[in-house]
Amino acid sequence: MRRLRDVMSGGGDAQQRLDRIVHLIAAEMVAEVCSIYIRRSGNVLELFATEGLKQDAVHKTRLAVGEGLVGDIARHARPLALADAQIHPAFAYRPETGEEIYHSMLGVPVIRGGRVLGVVVVQNRTLRAYSDEEIETMETVAMVLAELVASGGLELPEETGTVNGFAAKPLRLQGLRLSDGLAIGHARLLLPHLDVDRLFANDMGVERERLNQALAAVQEQIDGLAALIETAGPESRDILEAYGMFARDTGWRERILEAINSGLTAEAAVSKVQEDIRRRMSAVSDHYLRERMQDFDDLANRLLKQLIGGEPIEADFDAPEDAILVARSLGPADLLDFPRQRLRAVLLEQGSPTAHVAIVARALEIPVVGDLKGLLGVIEPNDEVIVDADNGQVFLRPGGAVRDTFARSMATRRRQQETYAQMRDLPAETRDGASLSLSLNAGLLIDLPQLTVTGADGIGLYRTELPFMVRSDFPDVDAQCDLYRRVLDQADGKPVVFRTLDIGGDKPLPYFEGGPSENPALGWRALRIGLDQPAMLQRQIRALIRAGAGRVMRIMFPMVAEVAEFETARDIVRDELSIAESAGQPLPETVQIGVMLEVPALVWQMPALLDRVDFVSVGSNDLVQFVFASDRSDPRMADRYDALSPAVLSLLRQIAQQCRDQDIPLSICGEIAGRPLEAMALIAIGYRALSMPASAIGPVKAMVRSLDLGRVESEVLGLLTRPDHSVRHALRSLAVAHGVHI
Ligand code: PEP
Ligand code: MG
Repeated sequence: MRRLRDVMSGGGDAQQRLDRIVHLIAAEMVAEVCSIYIRRSGNVLELFATEGLKQDAVHKTRLAVGEGLVGDIARHARPLALADAQIHPAFAYRPETGEEIYHSMLGVPVIRGGRVLGVVVVQNRTLRAYSDEEIETMETVAMVLAELVASGGLELPEETGTVNGFAAKPLRLQGLRLSDGLAIGHARLLLPHLDVDRLFANDMGVERERLNQALAAVQEQIDGLAALIETAGPESRDILEAYGMFARDTGWRERILEAINSGLTAEAAVSKVQEDIRRRMSAVSDHYLRERMQDFDDLANRLLKQLIGGEPIEADFDAPEDAILVARSLGPADLLDFPRQRLRAVLLEQGSPTAHVAIVARALEIPVVGDLKGLLGVIEPNDEVIVDADNGQVFLRPGGAVRDTFARSMATRRRQQETYAQMRDLPAETRDGASLSLSLNAGLLIDLPQLTVTGADGIGLYRTELPFMVRSDFPDVDAQCDLYRRVLDQADGKPVVFRTLDIGGDKPLPYFEGGPSENPALGWRALRIGLDQPAMLQRQIRALIRAGAGRVMRIMFPMVAEVAEFETARDIVRDELSIAESAGQPLPETVQIGVMLEVPALVWQMPALLDRVDFVSVGSNDLVQFVFASDRSDPRMADRYDALSPAVLSLLRQIAQQCRDQDIPLSICGEIAGRPLEAMALIAIGYRALSMPASAIGPVKAMVRSLDLGRVESEVLGLLTRPDHSVRHALRSLAVAHGVHI
C-alpha cells in the first residue's frame, strides 16, 4: 500500500502512473500478468495498461461490457477468481494479447459511486487458486484506481467521438413518463459519492481512533433519534434498536478495521466496505434483506459524512448549459439544488410517476423519464440526449433522422401550447353547460405566476412540505408566516388550500428523521407525526392563521384515517385561533378546515366525517395505492393496476355521491385529475372541481370544452360494473366516438 501511495503521489501523467501500478501489482501479487481495462464511451472496456501481455495490445484490445471474462466482471460488478480461465464458457480469446499461456486469473471491478469504471486483472501461468485475502487486496487496489480514473486525465482526445469497431451507437431506451415534455441536451451524470480525498494513512493508530470516534458519534445520532420517537410506540423503538445494532455490529467494524490495517484512511476504508456491500446488495433479490443492506449503506454514508464532513451532492456549477441530469434515483431537494437554468430534463434508473421528485419536476415543468433499466451502464458523460418524456423514451447519441423528427414534434407542441394559451380566459364549461373549476397543485412560490398564465381558478393543493424539504432546519413561525402570506398575496384573492405538513413516507426532511420503517407509506407520516409531535403542527397552524389575517384561510389535513384524528387536528386550529384572538391579533375572516381523503378507512366514516368538515379533497395518488395495496413509488407496480378501473371509479363515485348528498364541497387533487381522459371519467362520475399541475390546465380545459356531458355520462357509468382490469380503452373509444379532445 505504501508503494502504491508513492506511485499515486509521484510524478507523471495518469497513463504513466497506470503503467507503474500494473508493474507494482504484478510483482506484489506474484503474478505474471497485471492488466487494467478502462470503460470508454460506447460501453467498451479498453486495455489501458498491462504488465505481461503484449504491449502492442494496449489501446487496441477492446471488449464490450458483458463480453469475455473481463466484460462479465464489469457487467455483474463482482470479482471473479478462476484457477483455469480458459475453460470458462465466457472466456474470449484475443490473439493480439498473447494470453493463451496464462491459465488462472483474478479480476475485480473498479467501481466508484456504484458505477463500474473498469476492471483490473492478474493472471498466472499455473493453475492456482486465489485466496480471499488476495481478492481483498485487489479490491483495495481497485478502489485506489477508481480515484485515479475519476480524477480524469485518462480520456483520449477522440473520447468524445467513437471508439473504433465499437461506435458509441445510438440507443433508444424505454422507461416511464414521470413528467411530460421534450428536451434535447447533454448528459450530466450525478453519482452520489462522498469524495474521499485522502486515501492513504500516515498512521494506522490515528485512523483507528478516527473510526472509533466517528462510530461513537453515529451511535449518538441514532440514540438521539430514539429519544425523538419515544412517543411512537414499541415497534418503532424495536426498529431503531435493530438499526443501532448495525452500528455496533462487530463484523462490519472488523472489516473496516482490516481495510485500515492495509494502509487506508478511515474514510477510504469505510468507502471500500460500502462498495462491497452495495455490490452484494445488487445481487440480493429478497426485498427485506435488501432493505437491511440499505441500512448498512445509509450508516456508511453517515460515517463518511462524519469523517469527511460536507454534503453528499453539492450544487453543480460545471454542468453543461443544456444538462440532462442522469441519476439512479433523486430526491426532490436534490432536484431543486441543481442550477435550474441549466437543467433541461432528468433521467432516472429508478422512480415512478407518483414519487415526489416527479411531482416537483412537474411543478417546474422539467421533463422526467424514470425506470430506465441499465441506464447508467450505457450512457456516458456529455452524450447528446433527446428526451421524449411524453412517451417515456430516450434517444442516446441520436442520428440526424431522429433529431429532425424530434424538432418537428417540438414545433407541434409549441403550436399546441399557443392554442391552450388562447383558451386561457374562456370558461371551463362543457358543451352542454356544466361548469367546472380547474385549480393548480403548487408547492413553491415559483408556481404562483402560473395562476395568471393558465387562468386557473385557484390553488386546490398547496403542498407546504416542499419548502421544508430544501432547508437545513425547521422554519420558525415567522419564516413560515412570511411564506404563506406571500402565497396568498400572489394568489390575489383566488382561493388557496394549504395542506399541512405531509412529511415522512416518501417525503423525508433532511433534519427530521422518523427512523427507518418497513413500510414507510403506511408508517409514521403526515398528520400522524403532526398529532404525535403537536408542537410542529401548532407552529404551522399559528403561521397559517397569522398569514390569513383578514382573508379566508383554507387548511387541509393529509393522511387522516379516522374522524377522531380529524377532530384532534381541528381542535388544534381552534385552540390556536383562540390564542390569537386573546392576544388581540388580527384574525382570518373565516377559517375553513378540510380533509384529504387518502385512506380508504374514511369511506366507511363518511356521514360522521362530512358532519364535521368544511370540504373534502380526494388525494387519489395515495388512495389508489392503498386501495390496490400497491406501492406508488415502486416502478414495478407503476403499470400493474389502473386508476381507470371499475374498483377505483366506483369508489370515487360513491365519495362524490355522499358529498353531494350532504352538500359538502368536493375536489380531487391527485395526479389523475390532470390527465384529459381520466378527467373526463371523473366529471362523468360527479366531480366538478379538479386540481392539477399547471401544464395540465390547457389540455384538460380543451377536453372539457369539447365534452357533451349529458351524452357521455351514462355510458361511463355503464362501464363501472364491468369485470375488467381497466376501462381505459373503452373510455378512449367513447371519447373518440363523441369527439372529446383527449
Ligand atoms: C395524493 O396523495 O393524491 C396527493 C395529492 O398527495 P401527495 O401526492 O402529496 O401524497
Ligand atoms: Mg398523498
